[in-house]
Amino acid sequence: MTASIIDGKAVAAALRARLAERVKALPYTPGLRVVRVGEDPASGVYVRNKDRAAREAGLDSATLQLPEETPEAELLALVRRLNEDPAVDGILVQLPLPRQIDAAKVLAAIDPAKDVDGFHAMNAGKLATGQPGLVPCTPKGVMHLLAAAGTAIAGARAVVLGRSNIVGKPMAALLLAADATVTVVHSRTRDLASECRRAEILVAAVGRPEMVKGDWIAEGATVIDVGINRLANGGLVGDVDFAAARERAAAITPVPGGVGPMTIACLLENTVDAAVARRK
Ligand code: NDP
Repeated sequence: MTASIIDGKAVAAALRARLAERVKALPYTPGLRVVRVGEDPASGVYVRNKDRAAREAGLDSATLQLPEETPEAELLALVRRLNEDPAVDGILVQLPLPRQIDAAKVLAAIDPAKDVDGFHAMNAGKLATGQPGLVPCTPKGVMHLLAAAGTAIAGARAVVLGRSNIVGKPMAALLLAADATVTVVHSRTRDLASECRRAEILVAAVGRPEMVKGDWIAEGATVIDVGINRLANGGLVGDVDFAAARERAAAITPVPGGVGPMTIACLLENTVDAAVARRK
């Protein structure tokens, strides 16, 4: 079997186009503020792409750039101002933050109704308990990709590789909410390969280049590769050995061009959803 490619760029473009239509129909312009402290090079391209995509979708979007040495109190004060600003619907504080700032404290200070990253404990708790809230963008993007690929989720055996708060755990919660039978595997799992082999849906989010081998993939599985790993030679690979996995899977996401573009599109979707919920 040679897997079909799930084209994240196309699915993301379609989602952004739908959002632009939704925004046009609103009597106000949803506002997004991205706060960046320092110049972490890895997040630079991402922040610029966010801004461009947000403006193309018709949002009022701006990045607030603070110096590397910004004290925690100053960042917290900015978050409070954005919380109180009625024109701001979504607040995203770009991680990682410099050492003098406690990221957990900053995330906790964001108004949960404006928490478009979905990282606030209130939103994580809502997701865990099946209440509507803002859902982390990357796993939300994966759900869109599964829908686009026509993968049946209810009753399927899904394995999530990785248990971070930003990808693995919310991913597992979303799949569970969609009635999959979910297993979460991680660095202390005894036999990763055999757990993965049972997956009809495999989501890899570990950050280890091509760790998932071809023979870890069940025939006919849907494979979603969240990993983005920069190689010494400058190349970009996922967490899955794409060429080998493609020979066994039914559908697979490429890296780049799979999950990556969905994350930004879902950030815009969260901003529009937050605006509609706040301003109704
Ligand atoms: P984290 O480093 O926070 O989490 C990685 C998870 O993988 C942990 O749960 C860890 O287990 C597990 N893990 C690490 N090494 C192994 C191993 N050898 N065997 C089994 N499990 C292992 O990463 P993130 O969740 O933030 O990100 C994961 C990947 O996804 C990264 O490549 C990141 O760049 C990418 N990413 C991509 C996004 C996109 O837009 N496409 C957005 C966000 C992330 P344990 O908990 O036991 O330590």
